[in-house]
Amino acid sequence: MKKIAINPQQNLQQDQQFMQRAIELAQQAAAINEIPVGAVVVYQGEIIGEGFNQSITLNDPSAHAEMLAIRQAGKKLNNYRLLDCTLYVTLEPCSMCAGLLVHSRIKRLVFAAHDLKTGAAGSVFNLVANDKLNHQIEVSAGIMAEPCGAMLSTFFKRRRQEIKAAKQAKNNEEKC
Ligand SMILES: [Zn+2]
Repeated sequence: MKKIAINPQQNLQQDQQFMQRAIELAQQAAAINEIPVGAVVVYQGEIIGEGFNQSITLNDPSAHAEMLAIRQAGKKLNNYRLLDCTLYVTLEPCSMCAGLLVHSRIKRLVFAAHDLKTGAAGSVFNLVANDKLNHQIEVSAGIMAEPCGAMLSTFFKRRRQEIKAAKQAKNNEEKC
């Protein structure tokens, strides 16, 4: 049987506080038209790495929020292993990022919204707690899932409208 945390209420408050920072970072991504995902790495109660999705801006398909946050945390700790660290992210990691988390030996993953299409922490695959791999990560899912999910749906809705408007403008141009 799994051990129960000593003070779950305090843990939840701390989780919400760090997730709130990840949400702020996700909003920075949305502001530059990137899919709004934000991530922070926490070590001993302190944020040591931050990132938000920047794949389009950096022309880099690997520039996901988790990837950028982990790179920064590794530099800060001066270590390629992020032992005893927790990663907070607003959306369930993809298979690339889940693989990265295993490589980094991160202790715990806290994510908000599930990603039913590409999530690799339980939704489509589970790479973060797989017996066949040499490292398993503790996972807490669904913390502040509602605002994070809403942020993503608002973003995609806006983007669909923009694409539609651009198409219409182009059609009108051709008619002239
Ligand atoms: Zn990813």
